Amino acid sequence: MFNKIFIVNRGEIAVRVIRACKELGIRSAVVYSEADRFSLHVRHADESYALKGNTPKETYLNYPLILQTAKDIGADAIHPGYGFLSENEEFITSIENSGITFIGPSSTSVRMMGSKTAARQLMKRNGVPIVPGTTEPIQNIVDGKKTAAEIGYPVILKASLGGGGKGMKSVFTESEFDEAFLSAQREAIKAFGDDAVYIEKLIINPKHVEVQIIGDKHGNYVHLFERECSIQRRHQKIIEEAPSSFVDSAIRERLTMSAIDAAKACNYYNAGTIEFLMDADKNFFFLEMNTRLQVEHPVTELITCIDLVKEQISVAAGNVLSFTQGDVKLKGHAIECRVYAEDPVNNFLPSTGTVTFHRIPSGPGIRVDEGIDTGADISTFYDPLLTKISAISVNRKDAIMKMNHALSQYLIGGLQTNIPLLKWILEQETFLSGNYPINFIDNEFLAKEPAKLLQTRKDD
Ligand code: ADP
Repeated sequence: MFNKIFIVNRGEIAVRVIRACKELGIRSAVVYSEADRFSLHVRHADESYALKGNTPKETYLNYPLILQTAKDIGADAIHPGYGFLSENEEFITSIENSGITFIGPSSTSVRMMGSKTAARQLMKRNGVPIVPGTTEPIQNIVDGKKTAAEIGYPVILKASLGGGGKGMKSVFTESEFDEAFLSAQREAIKAFGDDAVYIEKLIINPKHVEVQIIGDKHGNYVHLFERECSIQRRHQKIIEEAPSSFVDSAIRERLTMSAIDAAKACNYYNAGTIEFLMDADKNFFFLEMNTRLQVEHPVTELITCIDLVKEQISVAAGNVLSFTQGDVKLKGHAIECRVYAEDPVNNFLPSTGTVTFHRIPSGPGIRVDEGIDTGADISTFYDPLLTKISAISVNRKDAIMKMNHALSQYLIGGLQTNIPLLKWILEQETFLSGNYPINFIDNEFLAKEPAKLLQTRKDD
């Protein structure tokens, strides 16, 4: 096992990884920016190292400095969390060359899944269903239009190297094609330095369902069921559940098998997630693989009683997975809500300032992954995710009730949060039915009168 793990992230995920290190008796070291000097992850870690500046580029993305620090402090492994450097192939390669262990997959697996077109080709070859469309970038507008007509409108244009919803444009008729194509190319080059764009069929009102897998370095693979992540705003998930109430056991069997096939296709080890879109007839299509720990991993941990972070650390150290597929059992229903510092009735304006009061919810079946405490400074430098609240119970209905109560108990002073929106969602018929598409927030909240819808929540 490792002696010292260097956690190169911040906020709730850094705190989460520190917790796993403590439970395993491993020393934890973290980095922090100037704005984060009083933050929770710095207080919890055994060692902390300052980075000059505040922008992600100067700090949490500054990998030459981060790698040098890892060597200087004698870390024998690096945990990247999610976001920042977690899927940066160059960073992972340089760690591999340094003799330090990366707690994640190999740089080769990351590269294989890094380009959406390359990943689609790989999946197709390995029998994993992909969204109908091209597996190569489009060469020009004329070819693109021809292909779009063959696939049939509506289609979606996507940057090959895309991520975070950038370089993605839906096209409903041929007359919109030229403008959408040029704009997708512009966004792609700006965000990813490459203007390659390809076409997928636009699935109408799909659901986002993903499968958690984990593999070791000895060729063993296990899935930990699916998560339902269709409650999204601008392609950002805000509420996740496990399992998905839309997925029956026959579909689950096929879905999880496809996820394992996807992982095997890129010789994957460590924790990873295969994202799928599912249409109304429950056909599922590979969307992408996230080659890291996901924000929403707590719901999977809750329904399986498996600590994914400890298992990540163990398999990175070369151990065989500590459980087999047969050991993984579904134990109830879990929901996670992401609490963001933003104002849902004011176009989700980020809320900044100092946390003046902080009281987290508790009770049987409530889990809190907190990244803040009283006195924390919330700036616009980083993602506005403050805390994740999760609830587990024997069934979905009870888990929702628990979550609703937990959100009422959660008190944060000094900042505006999205808690009123989260509570509103949990009470909607469509949500309660368990069958809601990814457009739920657009159609049922944003397209209506957000301020009025949340009016009754003012006194919460
Ligand atoms: P990114 O890597 O930029 O996050 P993804 O390919 O993962 O992009 O897609 C992000 C989201 O966009 C999905 O969760 C879904 O909401 C929507 N989306 C992507 N592809 C399609 C498609 N073919 N049809 C309908 N919606 C899609």
